[in-house]
Amino acid sequence: MNRNDSATRRSLRLLVLEDNPTDAELMIRELRRASYEPEWQRVETEADFLGAIEQLPDLVISDYSLPSYDGLRALAQLRARGLDIPFIMVSGTLGEDAAVAAMREGATDFLIKDRLARLGAAVARALNEKRLRDDRRDHEAKIARLSRLRSVIGGISSAMLRMRESEPLLRQACRVAMIQGVFPLAWVTLVDAQTQELTVIAIDSSDSPSMEHILSALQTMPTAHRPARQVLDSGRSVIVNDLSSAPSLMALAAPLQGGGFLAGAAFPLRIAGRIVAVLGLLARERNFFDEEEIELLEWLCADLSFALESIDNAARLDRLAYYDALTGLCNASLFQDRVNQFVHSAHQNHDMVCVVVLDLAGFTLINDSLGRAVGDQLLRLVGLRLGEFLAQPHALGRIGSDTFAVASPGAGERVATQLRDCVFEALQQPFAIDGHDVRVSAQAGIALFPADGDDGKTLFRHAEDALKHAKNSGAHFAYYSSDLHGRLVERSRLQEQLHKALELQQFVLHYQARVDIISGELIGAEALIRWQDPQRGLVAPQEFIALAEESGLIVAIGAWVIDTVCAQQAAWMAERAETVPIAVNLSSVQFEKGDLEATVRAALQRHALPAGRLGLELTESAVMKDPETAARTLRALRKLGVSLALDDFGTGHSSLAHLRHFPFDSVKIDRSFVTDITTNPNDAAIATAVIAMAHHLKLKVVAEGVETQGQFNYLRAHGCDEMQGFLFGPAVPGTEFAAQLASRRRIPLPAATPEEERTLLIVDDEPGIGTALARMLRREGYRILQAANGTEGLQLLAENTVHVIISDQRMPGMSGTDFLNLVKQLYPDTIRIILSGYTDLAVVTDAVNRGAVFKFLTKPWHDETLREQIRDAFRRYRTLR
Ligand code: C2E
Ligand code: CA
Ligand code: CA
Repeated sequence: MNRNDSATRRSLRLLVLEDNPTDAELMIRELRRASYEPEWQRVETEADFLGAIEQLPDLVISDYSLPSYDGLRALAQLRARGLDIPFIMVSGTLGEDAAVAAMREGATDFLIKDRLARLGAAVARALNEKRLRDDRRDHEAKIARLSRLRSVIGGISSAMLRMRESEPLLRQACRVAMIQGVFPLAWVTLVDAQTQELTVIAIDSSDSPSMEHILSALQTMPTAHRPARQVLDSGRSVIVNDLSSAPSLMALAAPLQGGGFLAGAAFPLRIAGRIVAVLGLLARERNFFDEEEIELLEWLCADLSFALESIDNAARLDRLAYYDALTGLCNASLFQDRVNQFVHSAHQNHDMVCVVVLDLAGFTLINDSLGRAVGDQLLRLVGLRLGEFLAQPHALGRIGSDTFAVASPGAGERVATQLRDCVFEALQQPFAIDGHDVRVSAQAGIALFPADGDDGKTLFRHAEDALKHAKNSGAHFAYYSSDLHGRLVERSRLQEQLHKALELQQFVLHYQARVDIISGELIGAEALIRWQDPQRGLVAPQEFIALAEESGLIVAIGAWVIDTVCAQQAAWMAERAETVPIAVNLSSVQFEKGDLEATVRAALQRHALPAGRLGLELTESAVMKDPETAARTLRALRKLGVSLALDDFGTGHSSLAHLRHFPFDSVKIDRSFVTDITTNPNDAAIATAVIAMAHHLKLKVVAEGVETQGQFNYLRAHGCDEMQGFLFGPAVPGTEFAAQLASRRRIPLPAATPEEERTLLIVDDEPGIGTALARMLRREGYRILQAANGTEGLQLLAENTVHVIISDQRMPGMSGTDFLNLVKQLYPDTIRIILSGYTDLAVVTDAVNRGAVFKFLTKPWHDETLREQIRDAFRRYRTLR
C-alpha cells in the first residue's frame, strides 16, 4: 500500500456542492485513487454553500443541477466575491451548451459523472493553474509594491536634497511614506543623546479619523516605544512580519488592531554610528517585509542617516561660524550682524543704538593663578550675568578672548548710560567658582548711533576705539567722540614731528632703579625714553610710542635706545663707575620689522659692551604675534648673554605656562596688580599665584610700580625677588642715576619681628574706645597698633606682622566684618575678633560662619572677660602656627 502512504498523499481542502451523497462519495473515491487526501465537506443549499466558501477551500466540485440551487449560480456567486478558487462542474448528462455556459462563467473544468476517472487529472490541472496564477499575482503585487517603495525612496531623497533641518525632514519622510500608499502608518522616534529617552517627533498616517487614537497611543504610551527600544538594544533593524505573533509588541497590538496592521518594521537612523532616531513603519499585509523590501528600506535609512549627519555637521559649522563655543554667545561676526539690524531699524524709527565693547581686566592672571578651567567658567558666568542684567532687546557677544560686546536700541541718549550702568552693575558681584569668589573689573568703550557712525560697522569699530582710549587712559569707560576723530588728525601731525625729533636728537633716556627685595639694594635699571620737545617740554612715552609703532618709526627709535644704553654703559665702565645691567623696552614692531638680533649685536660690538650689561623687556603681545620667529630671535639674543624680561605681565591674554617656551629670565608683574596689593585680596591672590608659578618655571619675579613700604613688605613676605617703583625712586636722568649707584642708595627693610612678640591691632572709629582698649591691654605686654578704620587697618597690616585683630563692627565706610573678611583673605593666619553691639548679631554670626571672625565680643565689655578672650586669641594663634 505504498501509494496510500500518507507521506505521498496530497492534502486537499474540498467543498462539494452535490445533493446526492453517493455521487459525492464516488468523487472522493476517485480523488483518493489519484492519491489525494481530501478533507471535504458536502453542501446542497445556497446558504450552506455561501457559508462554506468563506473557509476558502482549495477547490469546489459542484453538480450542474441541484434541486434547490444551481451549479452555474453558485459559480457566479463565487466569482462575484472575487474568489479565485478552482471550480469543477460535474453533470449527469452531457450538454454542450451547459459546458460552454459553465466555462464562460469561469468554471475551471467540466466533467460528466460517467467519466469520473478523469477527476484526479482535472483537479491536478486546476490546482496547478491556480498555483501559477497565484505566483504571477504575487509577483505582480511585489513589483507594484517595490515600485511604490522606490517612489517613497525617491520622494524622501528629494526631501533630503531640499531640506536643511532634521525634524522637518523626518516629518516629510513620514508623509511621503504614507502618501505613496505603501505604509498606512509611519513615525519617527527621536533618541536623546544623553538620556537615551525616546520621543515621537514625526508621525503620519493615511486615514486620519480612525487613526487618531493610534497616533495618540503611539505618542503617549511608553510601551509604544518598544520597537525603537528594541532597535536601540539590538543596534539593528527590527522586522515583525506578523504583528499578532510578536509578544514584545502586544502592548501595541490593541490600538493597532483597529488599524488592521499586520506587519511592522523599525529601522535605526544613525549619526556618526550612534542611533539618533528610529523610523517605524506599519503595513496592512502580513509578511510585507521580505528580503528585498528590507534591503531597500535599510538603504533608504542609510541615506536618511547620511542626510541627518550632514544637516548636523552643517548646523555645527553654522554654530561655529556664528557662535562662541565657550559661552554660546554671538561671536564677533554675528554680533556685527545684530548691530547692523539694530542700526537698520533705528534708521527707520529715528531711534538710537548703543554699542558697548568691554574688556575684562586681569583675566589672564585669573587664568594663570586659578587655572584655565576657572577662567573658562568665569567667561561663561560673565556671559550669563550680562545676559541677566540686560533688558530686552539686546545683542550680546563674546568678540575676543576676554572681550564682550553688547548692543541695544533705544529711544534716547539714555540708552547709552543705561546700557553702561547695566554692564558694570552686572560685574559688581563676585562670581562663585569652585569655592572662590572671583571678582572681575572691566573697561568699556561706548559708541552711539547715529552720532558716532551711521552704519553698524563704523559704530562697532568706534566702540572698540573708545575701549582702546579707556585702556590707554586707565578709565573705566570711554565714549567715542568726534574729539577722538580730531585726535586722529592731530596724530598725523605728531608723527611728522617724531621723525624730526629723531633726526634732531630730541629723545633722552631716564633710568629707573631695580631693587633686590631681600637686601633692598639697587641691582639694575630700566631705560625709559622721553621726548625733549622744545615747545612742550619733556613728553612721556605713552604719548608717542603707540604713534611711533603705527608709523614704523619705533624701529629706528628702538635702535637708538639700544645704542644709547650701550654707549652710556660703556662710558660708565670707562669711568670705572659702578654699573648694573640696564634693560630696554622693546616694541612688537621691532620684532616684525627690525632685524632685532643684528641691531643688538651691532650695538654691543660698537661699544664693546659685555652682553650681560644689557637686558630687554618685551610684552607678551610682542612675542605672541609671531611666536615662532620671536622664540628664535629671543633664543639667539639669550645666547649672546642678554637677559630677557616679560613685561607688563597680567595685562595680556596668554598664560605663563604658554610663555615658558620663550627663554625669559624674569617676569614683571604689571603695576596695576601691585597698586592695590595690600587692600584687594583678588590682586593679592593673583600676585602671589604669579610669584609661585614663575618660580616654578624658574623665572625671577619683578614687581612694577611699588610705591609704599606696605606693598614692598607684602611682596617681600610673599617671595617676590625684585621691584621697581617710586618707593625707591622714579626714572631719573643718567647723571642722577649714576649718583644713586655711587651712593649705594637702598630701601629700608621692615624690622624683623621676634617670634615671641605679640602684636595686637585695634580698629575702632571712636578714639575714646580705641584708647581705652589700648590702655587696658597694653598692661598685658602686647605691642599695640591702632587704626581708626578698615583702610588704615589694612595699611598697618601691610607694614607690620600682626597676630590678633580686634575690630569694631560699626564704622563709617568699611564695616568690621567686611574689613575682617578682607583680612582673612590677605592674612589668613591672624586671629580676628569683632567687638559689636547686639543689634549686629545676624551680620556677625554670618561672618563667624564664613570664618572671617574667630570670636565676637559685645559692647560694652567687661575688662576681665575681654582680657581673658584676648589671651585666648594669642594662645590660639600660637597653636595654629
Ligand atoms: P613700562 O615698561 O611698564 O615702564 C614702567 C612705567 O611705569 C614707566 O613709565 C615708569 O616711569 C612708571 N613707573 C615706575 N614706577 C612707578 C611707580 O611706582 N608708580 C607709578 N605710578 N608709575 C611708575 P614711563 O616711563 O612713562 O613709560 C611708560 C611706558 O612706555 C613703559 O611702560 C614702556 O612700555 C614704554 N616705554 C618707555 N620707554 C620705552 C622705549 O624705549 N621703547 C619702547 N618700545 N617703549 C618704551
Ligand atoms: Ca618695561
Ligand atoms: Ca608696566
